[in-house]
Amino acid sequence: MARIFCIANQKGGVGKTTTTVNLAAGLSQIGLRVLVVDLDPQGNATMGSGVDKRALELSVYDVLLENATIAEARQHSAKAGYDVLGANRELAGAEVELVQLERRDRRLKGALVAVAADYDFVLIDCPPSLSLLTLNGLCCAHGVVVPMQCEYFALEGLSDLVNTIKQVHANLNPELEIIGLLRVMFDPRITLQQQVSEQLKAHFGDKVFNTVIPRNVRLAEAPSYGLPGVVFDPASKGAQAFVEFAKEMSARLGA
Ligand code: ADP
Ligand code: MG
Repeated sequence: MARIFCIANQKGGVGKTTTTVNLAAGLSQIGLRVLVVDLDPQGNATMGSGVDKRALELSVYDVLLENATIAEARQHSAKAGYDVLGANRELAGAEVELVQLERRDRRLKGALVAVAADYDFVLIDCPPSLSLLTLNGLCCAHGVVVPMQCEYFALEGLSDLVNTIKQVHANLNPELEIIGLLRVMFDPRITLQQQVSEQLKAHFGDKVFNTVIPRNVRLAEAPSYGLPGVVFDPASKGAQAFVEFAKEMSARLGA
């Protein structure tokens, strides 16, 4: 049965999508079956996995509105090595449409049940908000992976996310927990980043993953080739760090 994780942080540009696609590629390289669910109308995880968001006949939008099943809407990315339930701009409208519907926060959960046996991991790339879309992700997940940059305001933003996760845990999904905080775009030459990293460890202890993802230009270039960095340039420092992270993640979960 699949274990389901949200990659979440309500700030934009902190590395959620990069973490999602590279963790997915890293897990698939160690032989695990992975589905990436793109819950961001920007569709970056879709494009970054080599699936053209403009050409989607069915997407996560149709799944949320129960017009299609995941089995019908998913696509296999041979290059990336995993399946993708894609998103595009259409998803922006789902927020408004869902508000009026029953089980509006459980739509994704219901749909995933039917494909849970097909995967070891489902990774959900969340949008940069604590919206109804993110809530759909949090309601079906066993845990949350939080990518973060070690910058001054990072800790402040984290408390909002931690509170939301606590509320969802208390009211909607008792299984939900923070699996870990992943330090990304890390530059050890910057003293502030080292300081924030130490604060994180002091505060969150072993919830901070051991693996650190360095700032690495190859990770930023990869999406323009429709590939996760792990596939685009396996020898790069960034790719190696994500492969290491995939191993840490699967070891932590006993997968
Ligand atoms: P989010 O999904 O949280 O908005 P992204 O994963 O899209 O964030 O990352 C934001 C930008 O930073 C993208 O241009 C991405 O390519 C770049 N980026 C992410 N991680 C790294 C990294 N480790 N090194 C260099 N650039 C990175
Ligand atoms: Mg993103």
